Amino acid sequence: MNAPTSESTAGLGFEVDRDHVGWLTFDRPDSSVNVFTPHLMRELDALLSQLESRIANGQMLALVIRSGKEGAFFAGADVEAIEALSTAAQARDASAEGQRIFRRIERLRIATIAAVDGACMGGGTELILHCDYRVASDRNSTSIGLPEVRLGILPGFGGTVKLPALVGMQNALEIILSGKPVRPARASRIGLVDRVVPASRFKAAVGEFAADVVGNRVERPTRTIGFGQRLLEGTGPGRRIMFGAARKQAATEVGSFYPAPFKAIDVLADAVGMKADEAYALEARALGELAVTPESRNLVRVFRLSQAARKALPANVMKRKRPVERMGVVGAGVMGGAIAELAAAHDIPVVLKDIDQDALDSGLRHAGDLLRKAAAARVFGEEEASLKFALITGTLDYGDIEGVDLVVEAVVERMAVKQQVLREVESATGGAVLATNTSALSVDEMANGVEDPGSVLGLHFFNPVHKMPLVEVVSGPRTRPDALATGFGLVLALGKTPVLVTDRPGFLVNRLLTPYLNEAGFLLEEGNRIEDIDGALGGFGMPMGPLRLLDEIGFDIARHASREMVAAFGDRMRPSGVIDRMIEDARLGKKNGLGFYRYQDGGNRGPDPTVQVLFAVERVPGQGTAATSTPEEILRRCLYSMVNEAAYALEEQVVEGPDPVDLAMVMGTGFPPFRGGLLRWADSEGIQKIHDALSDYGGRLGSRFAPAPVLVRMAEQNRTFTDLN
Ligand code: NAD
Repeated sequence: MNAPTSESTAGLGFEVDRDHVGWLTFDRPDSSVNVFTPHLMRELDALLSQLESRIANGQMLALVIRSGKEGAFFAGADVEAIEALSTAAQARDASAEGQRIFRRIERLRIATIAAVDGACMGGGTELILHCDYRVASDRNSTSIGLPEVRLGILPGFGGTVKLPALVGMQNALEIILSGKPVRPARASRIGLVDRVVPASRFKAAVGEFAADVVGNRVERPTRTIGFGQRLLEGTGPGRRIMFGAARKQAATEVGSFYPAPFKAIDVLADAVGMKADEAYALEARALGELAVTPESRNLVRVFRLSQAARKALPANVMKRKRPVERMGVVGAGVMGGAIAELAAAHDIPVVLKDIDQDALDSGLRHAGDLLRKAAAARVFGEEEASLKFALITGTLDYGDIEGVDLVVEAVVERMAVKQQVLREVESATGGAVLATNTSALSVDEMANGVEDPGSVLGLHFFNPVHKMPLVEVVSGPRTRPDALATGFGLVLALGKTPVLVTDRPGFLVNRLLTPYLNEAGFLLEEGNRIEDIDGALGGFGMPMGPLRLLDEIGFDIARHASREMVAAFGDRMRPSGVIDRMIEDARLGKKNGLGFYRYQDGGNRGPDPTVQVLFAVERVPGQGTAATSTPEEILRRCLYSMVNEAAYALEEQVVEGPDPVDLAMVMGTGFPPFRGGLLRWADSEGIQKIHDALSDYGGRLGSRFAPAPVLVRMAEQNRTFTDLN
């Protein structure tokens, strides 16, 4: 037997064991994840030349490809490399180069085995598709996916060619178009992996699999295909139905805003029956075309911003973070119950405290429901959901939060109550970090009265907590770096995107939403129809129009927040009379089934015509409706107001520049990511144009539109928000 040999380069390690199995290990230095940078691809290419000669010399019987990062196989795309591609031809060539290298692996004359422990995304998945066998660990985080369409592109290293060949066209369509990762159990069912092995003895199990392969004890995987599937995938008419259905589904899911899914379907459909070389070339051309679309540019940028947001606090501050091993949530209402669930879902034991047994029971029920829903959506198994639920302790007694590392207070939005609660929490825990989930109250004022105001910060979660990815991390003037780092670290541990904001009323997102929502009210009062207002914003790509959003928020809460904003910023935040009028009419929004829309059995039954009457008829008696605005004007009034408020917020340094504004608005309001965020969109719209329109509206409709000083200066100096970063 030969002695083991080993070699390594910057991101790649290689050794041959005593059984003549080669182990190729991806281990990117100075990073917790592997991604395919152009540099790594060149290294892999060079290593493959060595492997080919070793194989030719009979020194190796099989090759295992794995990650040196425990529990992390390959992260998604190298966004910097994608952003650096400036022409379609460059992008096509980069894709063709990746394909060439992965096809060298496919052509190696020994068995190749991919060993997947942890997330395997994008290029990582395309790599394993070019291996002969795939073994996956049963680790919670192990999953295999092709999320490229979410970046406005498609898999470009052979994914569209190899995946349908392995798992069938229907499964391939689903995986590529949804961008959602596949867990090991399903991967095994559809033939995407050959064996699932315990994560606890992963390397040994992979070694055994390799020995079985070398000893010819593993059957080549064959996929069983049902009759229906054969009919759909194996015949021309069947395929037409299948691709037609996929196009229809993509049209309902993403509308016309996102070209990538449609292009991916075309590529998959056109490649049927093609020779491999042609199919690879087709994929590379399509990738080239997509990579330079504005949609892809914007989606890639938002992805990069969300990754950068994780590193917003410098390493020397993060070093001071206290690990949150057990936490408390005080107030078991809508937000508290959901925050407790989020903690438990991420395996952090949590004590949920309220003053009222019924409220506590309802918060616990809410948390339990959310965990069950996550299990139904196969985020984790049912048994695991019960184990996670057991991590939540409900209590009415402060004694139970003693010793927790951090407490999130989510009690009613009243300063005096919150101050009192923070004082009580401080003495009950004996030194926990104190985080408030307030929507708009001053974090610093709330810290008055506690013995250690440096331990207080804001963690502003959005409703619904389990769906909204953003958390505003509010640093008050007295917040200590260790408290800030602890809160920030917790947000990361909970899988959310943190954006640092300063302690100004409404922080960032609610502040920018206020003029936007107000404007929808003014438009309604002027006689515009509910469906036209919401339709204009929906047509722009907002997940819901402003009036539907107000229904979701609830009019009492909206009025409360609006009053805070007027108190802080004066007349430009003054709302129309719509919300007051709705409340007078005993309407509170979706929660009492009486909003701008009609609700029945939990479903939205369309705009409520009686609401329209409340406003339009009052304004223009006898005429039914008043003069209406065009969709463009509706859009401009609502969105330009928001841009203007962002300019004020930037001047006050609520966030560090325009990038966090864009990220926060995408993650906190669903501002359409393919538009790159509010301020990126404003730049593409034109600062001068926005400035002039605001001045014009200011003259005609009210001083609330007066352009912010920053915007005036930008227009004068012909500068964009991008220039301010
Ligand atoms: P909620 O009214 O649903 O729940 C408040 C809970 O606090 C109730 O269960 C109440 O019994 C409990 N409570 C009151 N006083 C208490 C005390 N002294 N000790 C312990 N529990 C006490 O309110 P919510 O909507 O969950 O909002 C909570 C906080 O989160 C508020 O500050 C709110 O501004 C903020 N917030 C709300 C939303 C939202 O959309 N609901 C979004 C973001 C932030």
